[in-house]
Amino acid sequence: MEWKSLVVTVLAVFLTVFMMSPPEPPDARASGQCNPNKKNAPQMIKIDGFESTWQMQRGCVFPSSRNVSYVLKMFYKKWKERFGDKDGLVLKNMNNLMIEWDSREKIITGTGFDINGKPLTGKARGLTLLPGYIWVWENRYQRIAATALVHELVHAALWAKNKSHGDPDHEGPDFAGWTPEHTKFIKEINDLLARLDI
Ligand SMILES: [Zn+2]
Repeated sequence: MEWKSLVVTVLAVFLTVFMMSPPEPPDARASGQCNPNKKNAPQMIKIDGFESTWQMQRGCVFPSSRNVSYVLKMFYKKWKERFGDKDGLVLKNMNNLMIEWDSREKIITGTGFDINGKPLTGKARGLTLLPGYIWVWENRYQRIAATALVHELVHAALWAKNKSHGDPDHEGPDFAGWTPEHTKFIKEINDLLARLDI
């Protein structure tokens, strides 16, 4: 009687441990892994948990596709809670996303806007070039929270919803979509990520 319950307990523990970390199929692992031998050559790395979402990175130090997957999942969960996604357009877009990481900032000339909608010239930390294409400057902190990724994900989500633009002037008056609530949302997620050291 007693050994039986022991077996059940051991099995339950095994099952719990097993369920917490499901093994990845070897193919997925191989294709999703960054190859450090490629040095600074660009590599396309699949983002787990999303149908056809990839990142392009140079070098394998930052950011790990695992952390990007975590950020994307958290972003969508919180977006849905806060802003909804009745027609699933935001999720559909996130399932077909390309994120390009770059160690250098991009020089922009009069095409960007600051958070209040004022035209901006200078260096960009991130750009949403299409609803499904985000460019992000890595910066030197090696933390996703310190990059513009979450900010760009908001542009991409708004673009996916209204189908014509990602509200490039943010809270400014020329394009609709971005509200102070979106600005707050980005800060909340980045604060959370920073606390998790991501
Ligand atoms: Zn922006």
